[in-house]
Amino acid sequence: MNFYVMTLFPEMVSSGLSASILGRASERDLLSVETINIRDYADNKHNKVDDYPYGGGAGMLMQAQPVVDAHRALTERIGRKPRTVYVTPWGRVFDQKIAEDLAQEEDLIFLCGHYEGIDERALELVATDYLSIGDYVLTGGELPAMVMIDCISRLIPGVLHNDESAQTESFTDDLLEHPQYSRPEVFEGMEVPPVLLSGHHKNIETWRRQQSLLRTLKYRPDLLQKAQGLTKADLAFLKEQGFEP
Ligand code: SAM
Repeated sequence: MNFYVMTLFPEMVSSGLSASILGRASERDLLSVETINIRDYADNKHNKVDDYPYGGGAGMLMQAQPVVDAHRALTERIGRKPRTVYVTPWGRVFDQKIAEDLAQEEDLIFLCGHYEGIDERALELVATDYLSIGDYVLTGGELPAMVMIDCISRLIPGVLHNDESAQTESFTDDLLEHPQYSRPEVFEGMEVPPVLLSGHHKNIETWRRQQSLLRTLKYRPDLLQKAQGLTKADLAFLKEQGFEP
């Protein structure tokens, strides 16, 4: 999968995504991350890309021309117009399901805003999706784009050593992941739950499922209300805990 990030701060994106699992995945050609410096497309000798908003108001706005020219040059090079995500606080809030949908794409462009955002006409011409990482405002779109790329990359076959781990993680079926333990068996007087040491796979599976339900009930009861894959046993267990769907 090929990610293209249109930004005024390319070094921030390339350094942030070149380490660890994603770095290894690009070395193995499972994905690529290319940054496009929007400033390279400024049509003035000072490479200025921002200006005052019409109608007044605080701050500066990224102008339409460099954004649109950068996007045109990129899509001409790719040979088609891939989905283009403008990361913005007013977009739909990114979640695991959106990540699963975007992971099906072969090419994906992210457009990062800065200052007060981007001239609306550029967005109308280039953006196909508007996504936010949460109800708060950051200084630029680079971190949100990196968050989304990191999350989508983990869903590309081969990126994680064990593809199963992406399937059993939090949010995959609207449940949070169960607690996990590693060695030693006793740490500062706290023991690993005995069932995990029992070698009894069925009991371990039941324990994990119930812990997952309990954790979701405690921290994200809103997820349980829309969870699709709850079994009769799940619902009976949740009822014992006082949950009413
Ligand atoms: N004036 C804009 C508003 O009120 O919606 C905020 C602009 S923000 C200071 C600058 C850029 O950061 C945005 O254009 C966007 O690309 C990015 N950004 C900030 N917060 C974000 C969030 N929660 N999710 C996604 N992108 C965000």
